[in-house]
Amino acid sequence: MSEAANKTEKFTHKPRVAYFSMEIAMESDIPTYSGGLGVLAGDTLRAAADIGVPMVAVTLVSRAGYFRQAIDPQGRQIEHADDWDPARYATRLQATVALDLEDRQVWVGGWLYELSSRVDGLVPVLLLDTDLPVNDPRDRDITHYLYGGDESYRIKQEMVLGVGGIAMLQALGFNLMGYHMNEGHSAFLTLALLRRFAHSSNGLRPGESPYDLPRVRELCTFTTHTPVEAGHDKFDYTLVRRIYGDLLDLGTVKLLAGEDRLNMTRLALNLSDYVNGVAKRHAEVSRKMFPGYAVHVVTNGVHASTWTSLPFAVMYDQHVPGWCHEPELLSRADRIPNDAVWAAHQEAKRELVDKVRELTGVALNPDLPILGFARRMTAYKRADLLFTDLARLRSIARKHPFQIVMAGKAHPKDAAGKQLIEALHAHMRELTGEIPMAFLPDYDMTLALHMVSGSDVWLNTPLRPLEASGTSGMKAAFNGVPQLSVLDGWWVEGCLEGVTGWAVGDDSPTANGHDAMALYDKLEQVVLPLWYDDRPGWIAVMKGAISKNAAYFNSHRMMRRYATEAYLR
Ligand SMILES: *Cc1c(COP(=O)(O)O)cnc(C)c1O
Repeated sequence: MSEAANKTEKFTHKPRVAYFSMEIAMESDIPTYSGGLGVLAGDTLRAAADIGVPMVAVTLVSRAGYFRQAIDPQGRQIEHADDWDPARYATRLQATVALDLEDRQVWVGGWLYELSSRVDGLVPVLLLDTDLPVNDPRDRDITHYLYGGDESYRIKQEMVLGVGGIAMLQALGFNLMGYHMNEGHSAFLTLALLRRFAHSSNGLRPGESPYDLPRVRELCTFTTHTPVEAGHDKFDYTLVRRIYGDLLDLGTVKLLAGEDRLNMTRLALNLSDYVNGVAKRHAEVSRKMFPGYAVHVVTNGVHASTWTSLPFAVMYDQHVPGWCHEPELLSRADRIPNDAVWAAHQEAKRELVDKVRELTGVALNPDLPILGFARRMTAYKRADLLFTDLARLRSIARKHPFQIVMAGKAHPKDAAGKQLIEALHAHMRELTGEIPMAFLPDYDMTLALHMVSGSDVWLNTPLRPLEASGTSGMKAAFNGVPQLSVLDGWWVEGCLEGVTGWAVGDDSPTANGHDAMALYDKLEQVVLPLWYDDRPGWIAVMKGAISKNAAYFNSHRMMRRYATEAYLR
């Protein structure tokens, strides 16, 4: 028996939960993620590996990655291919499975990546791959480009993920106790399961459905991440049928996925007994968007050891031993001496300052506060809110000097997101000599850790209620960096004013238009004066972020909840 076959075999003897996600951030250097969704998937699996929840993950190999970002002299994003070689990190699977797409047979092979924990656990990740010589050249790149291509490309990708993924798990002999869809991209898996568990038509009474819906529902868990209707994948039935033929009878599919268009979220909702949003506020919004469905809440969390900088990890090892496995222990962080917390932060900050100089040539002053902001550059995240009134920003900086570090990629087809990047660079030029500022190209997990640990304040200014959760502020909390944020996503739960960080504006639906003024006021009157004038008071907030937020908003807590409430229900 070949080595590769042996490798999957060690995972097939005990029942597992199959976790499906279009993107998974396995390592910073493997470019199979575009942002928060993929990082969350990676953190979920890292936590499962740590605490021994038996899982197997399924995703696409995305050989061409998302993209590598460069910035031209005018401040415009340039996209480079980010090809990676799966053979360097993973083992080829022995099985291949066939799908019929557009009247052609498409063979799906794949790779086994073994995601390892900090302790001794492993979670197998299957990276599906259609780049096989047997395939028609038109089909070899279906699994190449993360979120690339047009609608028909996306349908094919989602067919490979959902239907191909189920077939691959079966071909490899996995023994499965449940299926978890991380966002709606993988919802075609429900159709594959319906087909597998169909009753034979012999014993059916007239009009009785051949499909065992309750059985499939019982097996499925669905986590939704998108708080706006327009953000959910919807496909044209003509296109779906052209590509997939008759996946099930069309009447049944329309009942489950919508009459006019095939809505992947509806499909997942209708075939999952456990559905959840990723923060309390997000679940409320989802219940309004999808009346009649019970939407539970499992608020997101981040993986403790992945998102803690070395200086903080060393400090926690000394003062809170066991924190990696049981991040709840960080609720004891208030007892860590102030000097230790401040020294660890200075070390992380120096590393960020070095990184900024290395990447951009900008020399920041480690003795002045740094405001950090990094996320996908897309309109609702409002990366430019801080620059709404440059005169006001300058006047604040004259009283209490500060520096700004930003980063983030815009999707290649998101014109508004790209414009944001250009606008940020224009502001940077305007503020030269007054407010030191840098934009770090090619945001990834490594840069994220530098930024969330080396900044003094972590900023987040999304348009309510579009931030389903947000997770970078949770990463900041693990590094004693308080967040200053609009009350949306997880911050509705995480903000204790002046204790774990600060709110921008209030929680009213009308506050969006006043967020810039609220941000300036809070910076000028509360945040910067505390940093400058009351160091013990500032360190108390740093510790508040650790003891109240890192202790709770971690993926160990999140994974334990999925395991007990969704998988073992
Ligand atoms: C954590 C992370 C994100 C998500 O951050 P948000 O605050 O949820 O926007 C995106 N990209 C990378 C590289 C990350 O590490």
